[in-house]
Amino acid sequence: MRLVGKVILVTGGTRGIGRAIVEKLLSEGARVAFTYRGSVELANALVQKAPDRLLAFQADVTDVSRTDFVVAETLKTWQRIDGLVNNAGITQDTLLLRMTEAQWDAVINTNLKGPFLYSKAVLKPMLAQRRGSIVNITSIVGIQGNPGQANYAAAKAGLIAFTKSLAKEIGSRNIRVNAVAPGFIRTDMTADLPGEDWKKSIALARLGEPEEVAALCAFLLSDEASYITGQVLVVDGGMI
Ligand code: NDP
Repeated sequence: MRLVGKVILVTGGTRGIGRAIVEKLLSEGARVAFTYRGSVELANALVQKAPDRLLAFQADVTDVSRTDFVVAETLKTWQRIDGLVNNAGITQDTLLLRMTEAQWDAVINTNLKGPFLYSKAVLKPMLAQRRGSIVNITSIVGIQGNPGQANYAAAKAGLIAFTKSLAKEIGSRNIRVNAVAPGFIRTDMTADLPGEDWKKSIALARLGEPEEVAALCAFLLSDEASYITGQVLVVDGGMI
């Protein structure tokens, strides 16, 4: 129970990695506010697991008015925000020659602008508390690139640079900022992986589970990680 007393905000908490993070933080004693885009029923069902320690908000991460509302409501309910996980993310994969401006904008706005908006919004309460931990979910694709994912790779690489810059900007205020870079994790996002060829590039020869990413996030949000900031931690079963 490393997170008792902490309030943590998770974007995209209804499915996949985000949902596993919400459940892990809950099991470590935290109070958790989470957002989602469309899955109202999943959100309501999740809140029922611990109604006194969970808050759900339907809020697109690209909508700044919703960001401010989510942060204000979380503060109104629990008076503090100790952690933020910028997890919400999408893919719109295609080769660059076929990529539309709308596909570029959607992925950059959700995966890079979203973390900017949420990080900025939680800074005020974190600065006032003189403590905080921000975890940005990037991807190994942001480190090594991937054909057909120029928009996604650019957003995730941008998120790594954002992480390192912000860590240097606010480290003296005792606010830590780290990035977690998963490889192939079993979620809706990877449900359509063709064939079994991907296995050859993974030392552990299997997909990762969302819980294996969530475990690292919980550590980074806890005081056990008090001297770790500006890092990119890879969870990919030995792929890169
Ligand atoms: P999923 O598609 O399984 O889940 C995405 C979650 O984010 C859902 O809860 C969804 O809400 C929410 N979401 C999506 N867009 C928005 C938005 N605009 N505003 C608010 N919430 C939104 O994704 P994963 O769990 O697979 O991925 C989570 C993160 O991990 C992403 O950032 C992804 O890039 C990253 N990642 C994933 C990998 C993988 O192999 N799965 C590998 C590397 C990185 P709703 O249910 O309402 O749509």
